[in-house]
Amino acid sequence: MIIVFSDLDGTMLDHSTYSANKSKNAIELLIRKKIPLVFCTSKTFAENEFFRKKLGDSDPFIVENGGAIYIPENYFSFHFPYTRRVKNYFVIDFGPKREVLLEAMDELKSKGIKVKSFADMGVEEIAEDAGLSLEMAKLAKEREFTMPFKLLDENKISELKKFAHTHDLNLTKGGRYFHLMGQFDKGEAVEKLSALYKKEFKKIETIAFGDSQNDFEMLGSVDKGFLVGKIDGKFASNKFSHAEGIGPEGFSKKIMELLS
Ligand SMILES: [Mg+2]
Repeated sequence: MIIVFSDLDGTMLDHSTYSANKSKNAIELLIRKKIPLVFCTSKTFAENEFFRKKLGDSDPFIVENGGAIYIPENYFSFHFPYTRRVKNYFVIDFGPKREVLLEAMDELKSKGIKVKSFADMGVEEIAEDAGLSLEMAKLAKEREFTMPFKLLDENKISELKKFAHTHDLNLTKGGRYFHLMGQFDKGEAVEKLSALYKKEFKKIETIAFGDSQNDFEMLGSVDKGFLVGKIDGKFASNKFSHAEGIGPEGFSKKIMELLS
């Protein structure tokens, strides 16, 4: 059984417009072939629900850079340990909650490191800054485990890294924002979920797609990890295989190639 894990922004969705037009055919093919397609994204639970519905996906999904795995009830044929239940999902949580991150952001500011986080920005400002509709910006603000922010003074990057390290927090960068979060990453969540798939299907082959630094751990934790091209045509690293094409184009081409 093939299991596909994929990032959303800049990978299955266009970096600027968040459109899935160019990845739609590949997504539909995966769904038709009953190959699990697991979203693994920095997006929130609310945003994931929106895109699951829009793209017709019904598989488990990983939210907020590995902050939690949501598994639909009755998806696996066996019982497994989980942290909580939300709607019709079993949820496995990783890492500390929002409050810990908010305290850390306050401390950062008090140290003179100028940052602006989603907690500091209103829905309208997030919409404007990230190029989201107001409706989507509202869903993006509903964060549980990670805090996206802008570093207003890029010279403070090493101070920022040191701060995260001494506070047992992780710092990662997506296509637009830095993310402050607990000691978890997409890779850890992918490994956890892969183990459940393995228990269910015995023999699995895991494939993953991403475009940015916050995808590296995920790409490293699967059998075949691919980077798609960034908006400027470049790739975020040469350490992983490249799926030629920008964002959704690279994703689609490689899926078609792998399944043909
Ligand atoms: Mg991305």
